[in-house]
Amino acid sequence: MQLKIALAGNPNAGKTTLFNQLTGARQHVGNYPGITVDHKEGCLLHDGRKITITDLPGTYSMTAYSVEELVARDYLVNQKPDVVIDIVDSSNLERNLYLTCQFLELGVPLVIALNMIDVAEDRGIEVKVEKLSQLLGVPVIPIIARSGFGEKELLEAAILTASKAGKWKSLDISYGKDLDTSLTELISEISESNLMTDVYPARYTAIKYLENDEQIVEKGKDYDATLSSRLEEIVAKIADHTKKTLDVYPEAIIADQRYGYIKSILRQGVETHKFDTDRLYTSDKIDKVLTNRLVGPVIMLLILFSVYQFTFSWSELPVAWLESFFGWLGGIVEKTLPDGLIKSMIISGVIDGVGGILGFVPLIMFMFFGIAILEDSGYLARVAFMMDRVFRMFGLHGSSVMPFIVSGGIAGGCAVPGVMATRTLRSPKERMATLLTVPFMNCGAKLPVLALLIGAFFGENKALYMFLFTMLAWVVALLAAKLLRTTVLRGDPTPFVMELPPYRFPTVRGLLIHTWERTYQYIKKAGTVILGISILLWALMTFPGLDNNQHDLFEQQRQKTISSFSQKTVEELDKKSEPSSEKAIALAKELNTIDNAETEAALRYSIAGRVGRAMEPITRFAGFDWRTDIALIGGFAAKEVIVSTLGTAYSMGKVDTEESESLGERLKNDSNWNRVVAVAALVFIMFYAPCFITVVCIAKESSWKWAFFSIGFNTFFAFLAAVAIYQIGMFFQLG
Ligand code: GDP
Ligand code: MG
Repeated sequence: MQLKIALAGNPNAGKTTLFNQLTGARQHVGNYPGITVDHKEGCLLHDGRKITITDLPGTYSMTAYSVEELVARDYLVNQKPDVVIDIVDSSNLERNLYLTCQFLELGVPLVIALNMIDVAEDRGIEVKVEKLSQLLGVPVIPIIARSGFGEKELLEAAILTASKAGKWKSLDISYGKDLDTSLTELISEISESNLMTDVYPARYTAIKYLENDEQIVEKGKDYDATLSSRLEEIVAKIADHTKKTLDVYPEAIIADQRYGYIKSILRQGVETHKFDTDRLYTSDKIDKVLTNRLVGPVIMLLILFSVYQFTFSWSELPVAWLESFFGWLGGIVEKTLPDGLIKSMIISGVIDGVGGILGFVPLIMFMFFGIAILEDSGYLARVAFMMDRVFRMFGLHGSSVMPFIVSGGIAGGCAVPGVMATRTLRSPKERMATLLTVPFMNCGAKLPVLALLIGAFFGENKALYMFLFTMLAWVVALLAAKLLRTTVLRGDPTPFVMELPPYRFPTVRGLLIHTWERTYQYIKKAGTVILGISILLWALMTFPGLDNNQHDLFEQQRQKTISSFSQKTVEELDKKSEPSSEKAIALAKELNTIDNAETEAALRYSIAGRVGRAMEPITRFAGFDWRTDIALIGGFAAKEVIVSTLGTAYSMGKVDTEESESLGERLKNDSNWNRVVAVAALVFIMFYAPCFITVVCIAKESSWKWAFFSIGFNTFFAFLAAVAIYQIGMFFQLG
């Protein structure tokens, strides 16, 4: 069978020289129909097989900016050569690989001819061929086109690649969180309606829409005008967003990320310079320090730690304000509304529940602001780059880093987009391992719980403990991944490269927008889903309520207490003004104790109380009482609910009229809680079943089997860990 090879590359990379070497005199030059670009074709015989070679016009890119670029692109997609030889000038790798990158994104079967190695050598540049080939995932053959060196190996590699080539598969480069989200959206629209999928891979078309590629958008319109305008709408939306937040259009981000991808390849020991003649750009200079193998990780930890320090110290005051605001609001309702179910619902269900979550808004906001700085400046990509090395050791892929970070690797993400971000992983096993371990990260919903318990029990050094618990999340997630990858998900790792886009000065406007977007999501969730669950849980904790007999028992106690005091004392208390005499205060206290006992009895008797108490014999091993159990069940609906439910459960048990304690203080003073219980609870909350929404997402991205697996596996693991912590901690009397 005849073999079709296309030669492509940057101008002056040596294409014509190689073409002449391969084909000798057997070539002819024509024009592409209608345009004045040379169409050169030649042929040769190899092992009795006829091979035609087309010399494509030299281009730096594959956009629709010039005729040459269009010709090269159209030839590739319309003629579908069996293999493309991409000729690359090895003395100028970074620039040449930009085009390579686009071939890989188009998905053509590719072989790289690493040309001019003689020139590179003269300039003191050494290229590690093996490593480059491994990272790009295509054969790389060093050649000297002028002398014919490496020509035979090149041909053989090309023939082998052609024989193995299947359907075109495009390389997935990450274009940053914003663009990736839109890309996913575009891709699903495109592949659903099969828009031009016979010619271009869906991802490629999506990227071209993002790049505003006139030719492809034009073609898209011809295929399906309504779909095309829907795609253009998505693009317009994201373009508007990036323009607002980063002051650039998607095209620029795409180019940056491609260069970042290349840079990160070259940085991994592919290219070394004997003489440091090349001018270092600012980004490279910064990276020399920030991604240095030894200093880099230390700086990374310091930066992350200062984000926590900043978040906690700056948010302390506003959080306290909000807390007292909701306390004040509760007080007002307490005074104005008549006793009864409505009042109980508004105080325990709405104010304690939703207020408990809204109280953390300043903390969340500062956290998001810190993350926005890391992200917009380009540093987050470096974090991912450095983590990539660690991830490999645990059987995960470099593409797993972003899902981890998105899920709350730097506390404050969400596992739902994290789970969806795993789509960039090709290998199903690496993807599953990532999918199952991202919920271990400390998402924004766990943050209030962490802040509450850390604040109450380790208040002296909040940032440090927050940092330690974040590290713990990473360690556990990685170990769990390793466990999965050596048991149920055993398999080989696949190569990967991480993008390193240039550093950018974040704009204040961009930071504010990014911070607000995420904070708003949080507030919205508190006002809708959480409000609903909070009221539902309040109902479960209130009904069926004590029956008359039980109620009468408490009433009798009350009467007995009152009759043991003098008439005068009772009257003084009845006036509802502050009791002043010692006797009146004593009476108020005793009555209060009875009220508490009654509300506690009612809570125990309620539906939630019964469930909690049924679980208590088991959860006791981890130090959790039945109220905590109620909160943990609530946490399965949404992790934020843990704080609000604890608030409700503990406020119902203690109607303290003297002074309103914060929930943290209440827990601290409760006999069921101490430092060991707090750590056990934190660990359990961090690692037990993902919230309901995440579970649904996992099911959608894989199967219900895996979704149930994650509920079972995580809860079981978290419980074992909590029991171990509690038992060991109590044994050494650390509580
Ligand atoms: P094209 O624009 O890609 O077709 O590049 P050409 O084939 O015209 O080559 C550009 C220049 O590079 C010519 O002067 C070639 O002689 C020179 N050249 C090509 N390959 C090599 C090589 O491997 N080593 C050296 N030293 N020069 C080369
Ligand atoms: Mg030429």
